[in-house]
Amino acid sequence: MAHMIIGGKTCQAVSGETLEVRSPVDGQVFEHIPRGQAADIDLAVRAARAALSSDWGKLNASERGRLMMKLSHLVTEHGEELALLEAKDTGKPMTTARNDMIVLARYFEFYGGAADKVHGEVIPFLNGYQVNLLREPLGVTAHIIPWNYPAQMMGRSIAPALAMGNAVVVKPAEDACMSCLRIAELALEAGFPAGALNIVSGLGEEAGAALSNHPDINFISFTGSNEVGVLIQQAAARHAVKCTLELGGKSPHVVFEDANLELAAATVVRGIIQNTGQTCTAGSRLLVQQSIHDKFVALVAEKFKQVRVGTPEMNLDCGPVVNPTQQQRVNRFIEQAKAAGLPVLAQGQIDPGVPAGGYYVMPTFFGNVPADNALAQQEVFGPVLAAMPFTDEAQGIALANGTEFGLLAAVWTENGGRQQRVAKALKCGQV
Ligand code: ADP
Repeated sequence: MAHMIIGGKTCQAVSGETLEVRSPVDGQVFEHIPRGQAADIDLAVRAARAALSSDWGKLNASERGRLMMKLSHLVTEHGEELALLEAKDTGKPMTTARNDMIVLARYFEFYGGAADKVHGEVIPFLNGYQVNLLREPLGVTAHIIPWNYPAQMMGRSIAPALAMGNAVVVKPAEDACMSCLRIAELALEAGFPAGALNIVSGLGEEAGAALSNHPDINFISFTGSNEVGVLIQQAAARHAVKCTLELGGKSPHVVFEDANLELAAATVVRGIIQNTGQTCTAGSRLLVQQSIHDKFVALVAEKFKQVRVGTPEMNLDCGPVVNPTQQQRVNRFIEQAKAAGLPVLAQGQIDPGVPAGGYYVMPTFFGNVPADNALAQQEVFGPVLAAMPFTDEAQGIALANGTEFGLLAAVWTENGGRQQRVAKALKCGQV
């Protein structure tokens, strides 16, 4: 039985209730986690608040940095154990899970190094006055973590908060949180004082809602669906605290006729297959200039057919999706696209040795997808790629910008001027 950590101690939920943890690899229950609810969240927020005025709050920045370096080393030492846990919990291939732990260790290392390099400013003011600008911790920060890259996302969210001296409360995702609970244990082992890092497992609508609505938090960091992102913003607004959100995407690759086609094709396939398409920045739309459209799409299809799905131990290109709901959702998109007559340009292969009961889906590449089709507008969060042609730069940009999302885009051209121009015209966070 896994446990939570509140105030420096491992614990179960106040109610004593638990939730089953199933592996997407075979659909079997392999663990139980505490079903934390409002009472547990309240204890965790109180413990975090208390930590700010006790041992944790008294550490100076370089001491905090050293603790984070120690945690980074512990993550590296326990890398294989954490990767096995992550792979079982999410279904991802072992190589991907191992890489995730390298990234996790790096977050603690990077922000550990940054902890004592956050300087203020002195701003000249009226005669005889100056303004001293100090960078202070916010206080108790809440971190709601998604299930696609649990360990990495937890590291990315809490490492900067801890480096600055905040006390954190983490609510990992009910669908995959085993690695997160273990990381919190390693933080205790590293010597983080009681209450600096608290973690409460449980359901989104219970523990997650209780955390985001708690009146004594100072900040919320959330990565997840658009629907829940709106609830988080509303909760933050009610208490007038800040929040940061990373939500969904329908990210386009815009491929021009002068692109390095071989490199582009390989990257396009990897970009939608990685983590079985369960990545907010997955390149799920493929916009190809008319003059090279057929040739390029055929090249992508050829590579797409090589994609193989299997268990973590098989270490193929990707694994199952996280849960039956997600499996049904992806299959529904595929069936609706087929029913609408969209051509299937390629499919991957599911290894015949995967266990029955696992949540496997067929990677599928559709062509000639109309810009208003669900596949061109909605986030599938699965290994489904939608291609469509465009004539010129203006139309490519218009299509790329033509969704409600705006997370990431890729521009494929060897023309430097076009790279700059198109990147500037794309309305998204990263190009
Ligand atoms: P998905 O739909 O892909 O599972 P979610 O946005 O539901 O993504 O989940 C992301 C995280 O948000 C998870 O940790 C989940 O438990 C949490 N969550 C879900 N619903 C709520 C809610 N109403 N309030 C706060 N957190 C929530």
